[in-house]
Parts: sequence; structure tokens; C-alpha cells
Amino acid sequence: MEQHIDVAIIGGGPAGMNAALVLGRARKSVVVIDEGRPRNRVTRETHGFLTRDGISPSEFRRVAKEQINAYPSVHFVEDAAVTITGTDGNFQIATGQGTTYRSKKLLFAVGMKDLPLDINGLADAYGKSAFVCPYCDGWELRDQSLVLTAKGARALHMAKMLSGWTNRFTICTDGPDEWTDEEREELKQHNVPAFDSPIQRIESNDGMVERVILADGTTIPCTGIFFAPKLAAGSDLPQALGCKITEAGTVIVDAFGKTNVPGVYSAGDAASELYQAITAASLGALAAVGINGELLAEAWNSQS
Ligand SMILES: Cc1cc2nc3c(=O)[nH]c(=O)nc-3n(C[C@H](O)[C@H](O)[C@H](O)COP(=O)(O)OP(=O)(O)OC[C@H]3O[C@@H](n4cnc5c(N)ncnc54)[C@H](O)[C@@H]3O)c2cc1C
Repeated sequence: MEQHIDVAIIGGGPAGMNAALVLGRARKSVVVIDEGRPRNRVTRETHGFLTRDGISPSEFRRVAKEQINAYPSVHFVEDAAVTITGTDGNFQIATGQGTTYRSKKLLFAVGMKDLPLDINGLADAYGKSAFVCPYCDGWELRDQSLVLTAKGARALHMAKMLSGWTNRFTICTDGPDEWTDEEREELKQHNVPAFDSPIQRIESNDGMVERVILADGTTIPCTGIFFAPKLAAGSDLPQALGCKITEAGTVIVDAFGKTNVPGVYSAGDAASELYQAITAASLGALAAVGINGELLAEAWNSQS
């Protein structure tokens, strides 16, 4: 089956959904193609989103779908976009379930994905007591004894951040710390204990961390972990279509989500390194405004 629409949105997280909402209200025909694997699916609560503080990712998604359903020109399909061909005005999106959609514009809201967690036991706690962002989950772990696992300048950066939520944390660099003498001295001045013995395992009970055990036998009791995740682009499709990307794997866009490829936009985690749900939603809204502006200009000019 082939359907022709104004905008195909690939990805139905906060960015894609907010773009769909704005485009639906702008009376554009939209399909949101989403395979339903958002990065925050491991977590129980999303924080810091005004009016939605503490909502579960699944409830966020349910409410978003309910509100978008009020706009009949928007359709949400649970499917994966697997190949995209064509150019501005006529893109063809083939899905895993064998449907092909034709759209005038494309929005990639494909997020980022975590690479496999390479510390034994971390996956059991991820999203429950092991987190990546103090802004998202620091409040719940405030004043607790935590372990921060990262190395080099990133560890120092995360330590400075984490100090806003607790001063009871230990850094485990899980192998050589990769610090300069100045960085090591800075941590010493702030009395941050640091260990470079590899992490043997993280022990938790029903996802709640209890201790970190190092290869040299050291045991560090703790009730939470912050770690530096390794990320990859949520999808290779933007790059395959010719979009320029950064070293971190995010699509390079202007303020309205426009990429270097005509008719192609990107928003949310896929196109920024801010990694916050409310930021992703706002970038989705901005991209929708950019896309709608382009569609309106094309329609207007074709009539003159
Ligand atoms: C553990 C954890 C906790 C977090 N907690 C918070 C928090 O408390 N507060 C906060 O503000 N932020 C939090 N975040 C960050 C937040 O989840 C992200 O910033 C936000 O989800 C990004 O939204 P997005 O729409 O850009 O991408 P995502 O939500 O990741 O959605 C992208 C969607 O695109 C889909 N997709 C990808 N490729 C394809 C394809 N080819 N075809 C179809 N679909 C595709 C994916 O399956 C996914 O459903 C957390 C993140 C993590 C990992």
C-alpha cells in the first residue's frame, strides 16, 4: 500500500510526538512511524518536564498519543522505517512490515541509543538506581552514597555536576583514570575518593544497587550509580540519506531542525546533545514550525 502525505516523522518519542502535534494543528497530513524503543524505556519515571514531573515513559506516550489522536490528519504506526529514497517533495519510506509511505518532507526524530553496557551488573540497575544524568535523577539520590564511573575529563565534569546533589560519592574509573596531573590534584583538593582498579561487578537487589566490587577486592557500599554512557545514533537512515552528522553521531541542523539535505529535518536527541525530554519536545515543535513554513511557502508560490 502506498500513501502520500505531507510529512513522515520517523520516531515517536517526545520530539517526534510534539512535532506531530504541531503539524496536526497546522492541518498537515502526517505519519509517525515508530518502532517503540526510546532510550528512556529502562526508567520508571521522567523528571523535570513541567506538568509531567515523575510521569512514567509509557504514560507519557499514552497521553501524547491520546492528544495527537484529536487531529485526524495525523496517523501513528508501530513499525520501523528501514529504507528511505527520493528527494524533497517525494520521499519514499519503506517499513519493516512492508508498507511504503510517500511524503513531501521528512523529520528524523530517531533519538540516540545506548551501546551495550560493558560493566557486569550495570544493566540490572540501569534506570532503577543507575543513571546517566543528575538533572533527570539526581534529586531522588540526593545526599546518598553514590559511585560515579567515568574517566578522564568527563569524570571531572560529572563529579562537579554531581557535587550539587551529594558530597558522598566515589569515583571508579574502571581501569586507568586518564587524568592529567592538574585533574588529579583538583579531585584531591575536593576530597573525592577515586579508585582505578577495574570494576569486577555491581551488586544490586531488584535493581537497587548495594555495592560495587573492584578487581583488587575493594568493596564500595552505595545506593546509586551515575555513569558515562556510550551512545550511537538511533538510526543510520539520516546519514544514508546524506545528512551531515557530528562525531557524537547527532545530525547537524539549524535552529528549526533543517539539515543539509533539502526537505529533511531532524529534532530531539538525534539532533542535539542536550538529552532532556522537554528539550527534545521543544526541538520537535521548532522543527514542525520549520517544515510547515516550507510547505506553506511552496503552496503559496505554486499559486502565484
Ligand atoms: C535512563 C534514562 C533516564 C532519563 N530520564 C530523563 C528524565 O527524567 N527527564 C528528562 O527530561 N529526560 C530523561 N532522559 C532523556 C530522555 O529520555 C530523552 O532526552 C528523550 O527521550 C529524547 O526524546 P527523542 O524523541 O529525541 O528520542 P527517543 O525518546 O529516544 O525516541 C526515539 C524513537 O525513535 C524510534 N526510532 C528510531 N529509529 C527508528 C526507525 N528507523 N523507525 C521507526 N522508529 C525509529 C525509537 O524506537 C524511539 O521510539 C532519560 C534518558 C535515559 C536513558
